[in-house]
Amino acid sequence: MENNPASLRRDPSESVKRALRQEVGFGCPIPHCRKPFLSWHHFDPPWHERHHHEPNGMIALCIEHHAMADRKVFTKAQLHGFKKADNDLSTVRAKFPWAQPNHLVRFGGIYTQGHDVPVSIADNDIIRVTQDPIGCMGLSFSMRDQRGRLVAAMENNMFQATPNLLSDLHVDTGATKIRFRMKGGDAKLDLSFRFVTIDELKEMLVHDEARAQAAYKKLLPNFTCSTANPLFSREEIPQPEFKFKVAESVIERARTRCLNEEGRISLLDFRNVVSYIDGRKLEIRDRLVYEGLSVQFSAIFR
Ligand SMILES: [Zn+2]
Repeated sequence: MENNPASLRRDPSESVKRALRQEVGFGCPIPHCRKPFLSWHHFDPPWHERHHHEPNGMIALCIEHHAMADRKVFTKAQLHGFKKADNDLSTVRAKFPWAQPNHLVRFGGIYTQGHDVPVSIADNDIIRVTQDPIGCMGLSFSMRDQRGRLVAAMENNMFQATPNLLSDLHVDTGATKIRFRMKGGDAKLDLSFRFVTIDELKEMLVHDEARAQAAYKKLLPNFTCSTANPLFSREEIPQPEFKFKVAESVIERARTRCLNEEGRISLLDFRNVVSYIDGRKLEIRDRLVYEGLSVQFSAIFR
């Protein structure tokens, strides 16, 4: 095997990362740690001895324990032992440090922001955003499969998932992304936290509005409007008097309530969600769809 090939990137392939996550039960395997913010440590042989991405000589660790492993706090034999330890999701819990006040939340072309904003369908909260007395955000949501089993939940920024139901859980070391896939593809989630400028927000709004307009046109060939209505179902054909200036109101809200000192907005972006409410499918991609009810482009502020 070629030693230290210059072309090999330090970051392993997605399939190697997935195997390493699964091996440790999706949490750092150092006893009593179990954080899901994982990085990839090369130890047998170490990266500086030979560049490789062989899963047998690598282990998933949180960054704190990765730094210790780099300083040889753990022996090779110990690390091999941690790889073999019987760990599963039941011990993985993660408090997400989303301490920014005034997040803007986007899911499926719907924007929300405020002090206590539940987004409910059929009397079930699907997402709830709260703020504590010092202005820090608490995010809560739960994801269920078609049989009603709880797959994963976030309760006030504390994330936990149900063992044996997930095929993959990936949380990045910066705690800015959560991605999980359920076995059999039933429920799934891609959630990211990032900062955007007003211009980037405008681009997103243009995209979301165009998607909504295209959906209206498909349902209602002769209907044209400059601004999409906030909400409609297949049974309720939008009336012009219900016109709602979604993009303008989102930008106004973002400008007045969400901008930080660097002129950026902290955005929590739910993309690619599948969950079930009483066995009925809820899907969020570019729009939110539940039981034929399609919520296209709207803003919920409080
Ligand atoms: Zn750790």
